[in-house]
Amino acid sequence: MAKPNILLIYTGGTIGMIKDFKTGALRAFDFKNLLDKIPELQLVDCNIETVSFEEPIDSSNMSPEYWVQIAEIIEANYNNFDGFVVLHGSDTMSYTASALSFMLENLVKPVVFTGSQLPIGDLRTDAKENLITSIQMASLQENGCPVIKEVCLYFEYKLYRANRTTKINAENFKAFASLNYPELAESGVHLKVNYEYLLKPDESKPLKVHKNLDTNIVLIKLFPGISQEFLRNILSVSSLKAVILETYGAGNCTNAPWFINLLKETINKGVHIINVTQCSGGSVMMGHYETSNQLKTIGVISGKDITTEAALSKLMYLLGQNIPKEAFKKTYETPIRGELF
Ligand code: ASP
Repeated sequence: MAKPNILLIYTGGTIGMIKDFKTGALRAFDFKNLLDKIPELQLVDCNIETVSFEEPIDSSNMSPEYWVQIAEIIEANYNNFDGFVVLHGSDTMSYTASALSFMLENLVKPVVFTGSQLPIGDLRTDAKENLITSIQMASLQENGCPVIKEVCLYFEYKLYRANRTTKINAENFKAFASLNYPELAESGVHLKVNYEYLLKPDESKPLKVHKNLDTNIVLIKLFPGISQEFLRNILSVSSLKAVILETYGAGNCTNAPWFINLLKETINKGVHIINVTQCSGGSVMMGHYETSNQLKTIGVISGKDITTEAALSKLMYLLGQNIPKEAFKKTYETPIRGELF
């Protein structure tokens, strides 16, 4: 059987960084050097081709424009490759990978995001394992078809559904978690795939790449003492189309009348408000406590068990789809890429 063809897309991040000896700071380096650093890649049972951002970036500089660039690289190469591995800084990897999951509709091939905590040249680097196993995950085939047919994130022996992940640690090799969804696969002596958790997309439809992302949104994290004046000012920006409200616990917030009235006024102006929990795991359950009951009544949208990263990118994607106002709540609350229950 023919070896799978894998496209490695390098966007930047620690995985391909070197130390600037003058300043001591890490900076991105030429992608070609990355492959020189891992001769083991020649042993992997697939054909690898590479493409790199012209100027690799630290992922703290990521933006929706770059998300579109990644999507376009995948779109242009979709028919010629069996899988894609995207090398990306870990800082905003969950945002990019979640966004790509929404942008690539009817995806039936693996897109695996990975990176590392230590640069590839470092003695104790985690980059080699992450990169090599990501390529192997993207190469998994059964009867000539890819096993994984969705956007994933691989880090420290685990393959996750990308839009379920969050970066939880700035130091540990285990930098990501997916608290509301089990891992899709695990790397031990063997690669163990949890078939029952994989997305099973409709294979009859062609890939559709969505590039229209609307960023007229804001993320507000509640905290005790939040100021009425500041909040009113943010919510009165005329171009604002939607708000992600990070609430406490199971979707609770203060029921001070000024707060609820302000949200109600905002919704009445046509701005969508999505309730997402500040907790890393668990779900919003509006109406479970008195402190979330009114949110339900005034028409706040439930983010259920979605991550903040997926909530933001799903919002940008759906706003870019020009969905009628009346249908927006239902559409948002319905899973489209396995991002919520
Ligand atoms: N600052 C880096 C980035 O996200 C960290 C990393 O690659 O892990 O690009």
